[in-house]
Amino acid sequence: MVQGILAAVGLLGSLGLLFGIGLVIAGRFLRVEEDPRIAQVTESLPGANCGACGFSGCSGFARALIAGGAPVEGCRAGGDSTVQKLAAILGRSVGHTARRIARVLCGGDCHSAVQRARYDGVMDCRAADLVAGGPKGCPDGCLGLGSCVEACPFGALAIGPDGLPVVDEQRCTGCGLCELVCPRGVIQVMDAGASYVRCLSTLPGKQVRQVCRSGCIGCLICQRACDREAITVLDNLASIDPARCDGCGKCAEKCPTHCIVITPAPARVEPVRVGSGPA
Ligand code: SF4
Ligand code: SF4
Repeated sequence: MVQGILAAVGLLGSLGLLFGIGLVIAGRFLRVEEDPRIAQVTESLPGANCGACGFSGCSGFARALIAGGAPVEGCRAGGDSTVQKLAAILGRSVGHTARRIARVLCGGDCHSAVQRARYDGVMDCRAADLVAGGPKGCPDGCLGLGSCVEACPFGALAIGPDGLPVVDEQRCTGCGLCELVCPRGVIQVMDAGASYVRCLSTLPGKQVRQVCRSGCIGCLICQRACDREAITVLDNLASIDPARCDGCGKCAEKCPTHCIVITPAPARVEPVRVGSGPA
């Protein structure tokens, strides 16, 4: 009996030893060295794991970048300083990129926009949008239920007292997660120095006036006021070409509904790639 137990223990011990030696040998010959740059890249990222890059957090992005499957500008939350650090790790040079920020492209607040119904459902813009197009008179207007606020991992958004989202420019990293969840496309990330039109409605002017006092009515006054041909009105909606706009503000002064926001734009830096190699 005792002999049998000793034999079993001996057999198990021998097998354990054998497997252990096998694992050591396999580990020695089959080991794949991890590129040390992956750790360097991970340390250079903001560590927010926000997923705005499209990968599973910062380490996922770092592996993809080193493997050549992600662009060096891919971390939107890190901004220009992160891009420069990553380019240095990869031994490349990349031109400076302009700071980008979320903008709210709707001025239809609780004072100027018409509500056509009362909404008592789930407090989520995507849900409200599915209920007969939402309660707002304008089919393109902000619903104000704050799905974008919920989506922001940096606490850069809040619904203001007038029912529209307000961006905290110091906190916004331009990651674009708010942009992804908005069912109306009202939040858009753009160059921080770019002037913009605070409306997305392509309804004819008369219909815009029926639902909102702050919307673009496509009257062409701004287009005519601009000396630099930076404004185009297409489908009843004005848009500003940031490459032509110098921020003079003549359009905003003349706009009858005050839907143009002029952003002070000292020295805009255009993103220019000066390095070579894969993106
Ligand atoms: S911007 Fe979009 S997600 Fe944010 S409150 Fe308005 S409709 Fe909702
Ligand atoms: S406001 Fe939008 S772009 Fe800015 S940090 Fe928040 S989610 Fe990202």
